[in-house]
Amino acid sequence: MTGYKKFTTLRQPALHHDFGSNHHFSSDKGLIGQFLTCMLGFVAVLLLATPAQAHSAPTPYGPTNPFASEGLIPDNLLCGEGYRIVDTDLCTHGSDDLMPSRGRPIDDDVLVNQPLMPKAILCDGDGRSGKRVQVMYVRTEDRADRYAQSLATIRMEAMATDKIFNVSAQETGGYRHIRFVTDARCHIDVLNIVIPPAMNASFRATILALKAQGYDRPDRKYLMFVDADVYCGMATVVNDTKPSADNLTNLVTGYARMDSRCWQSDSIAHELVHVLGGVQFSAPHATGGWHCVDQFDLMCYSDEPYYPVMQHICPANQANRLDCGHDDYYHTDPQPDSYLATHWNVANSEYLSPLEALEVVEPIVNLFARTGDPGVMTPSTITITAQISNSESILAKVEFYDGPTLLEVDTTSPYLYTWQGVTSGTHMITAKAYDDMGEFATSSILTLIVPKAPSPDFNNSEDKKPLVSQLYLPLILQ
Ligand SMILES: [Zn+2]
Repeated sequence: MTGYKKFTTLRQPALHHDFGSNHHFSSDKGLIGQFLTCMLGFVAVLLLATPAQAHSAPTPYGPTNPFASEGLIPDNLLCGEGYRIVDTDLCTHGSDDLMPSRGRPIDDDVLVNQPLMPKAILCDGDGRSGKRVQVMYVRTEDRADRYAQSLATIRMEAMATDKIFNVSAQETGGYRHIRFVTDARCHIDVLNIVIPPAMNASFRATILALKAQGYDRPDRKYLMFVDADVYCGMATVVNDTKPSADNLTNLVTGYARMDSRCWQSDSIAHELVHVLGGVQFSAPHATGGWHCVDQFDLMCYSDEPYYPVMQHICPANQANRLDCGHDDYYHTDPQPDSYLATHWNVANSEYLSPLEALEVVEPIVNLFARTGDPGVMTPSTITITAQISNSESILAKVEFYDGPTLLEVDTTSPYLYTWQGVTSGTHMITAKAYDDMGEFATSSILTLIVPKAPSPDFNNSEDKKPLVSQLYLPLILQ
């Protein structure tokens, strides 16, 4: 937590930076880029999400790197409630250390499924022209290259992110799909980016390293899967509420960074909403820190600097959908005089498509988890089931993993693993389904957060009550 203390200390003085002396532009930008950058310098805000103190309970995702806040300066003029990223004209609100949908208690013995993982994608034009979201795997050159083994996971989580945008759009009668850069076969294009050692140590350093390689196109939002463990996620945001297509979010480069522990669709969707312009300070339920107060909602949590009281308006199954009530940042067809008709609406982003023309490209593996008994304590027993659909081939086996550790190989249907003696902690479960030709498809990650049993010196005071629901599972997207 040293890093976080440093981070908050940085915020205290109400500094106003001198634009004349502090701004500088990278020399590899074209004239248009410089112009846009200049405009941005005064208007745009890149945001970083909030630190662990934003949450009422301690988070398992607190900053692990004391340099996580390196290169961030409070800058009210440029960034509002946010930081300017030194050597750029981008702003950020800090790191999103725990997604609001994570760690939410559920009833015991309830079948919980991950967001469905359609291996389907919008195949839009040539896959490259126009405004696009570019996915990239990023590692420093002194780390092992895990591109090949990460590719399936990254593509799947990106597709699941797309689904979050689309099911949320369907709540207001429309469709929205992410306009990814895709290859000739309509697979999501995932660049393999190598940056110098230590350039993963902060959001700023990673952005500078990408810019140095030319990844600063104003018609791209870069979705960076960084092979590091500094943040959960962090993103840039443009501070512009104009409802029209010339809103700056449509015109400038954006960056979202997810580190490996948060390569999951809820985290990715959260950061992408930031990049696409949510949640503006003027929104009806804004926190003033780029999030919202009307739970449940993928963008809502009590954040820095005001730590507002949350309002529980939408049901828990909205926890991984966008915009509870569709009145703050995402509505496909807002009423003429409503806030979203007169202010920036992420559903109007030119990085999203209103078309619904999906092509299925791969088999689907869905994971389900069931706890055995009510009041599960560690060690506990959890049954994990894999369902495979959209597969035309013969299934040979399913492998179950906890992180990189192989738990079980099941060669007969139904494919399941009864996991006994599960230890406390966070378990990242995946399944790989192989056909008889050796081809395989991978499930999304199912996150199990299993708390410790109460310690022997536990006392019964109100604030030390044992956990009522001992198994914590991630989002539900029906
Ligand atoms: Zn955030």
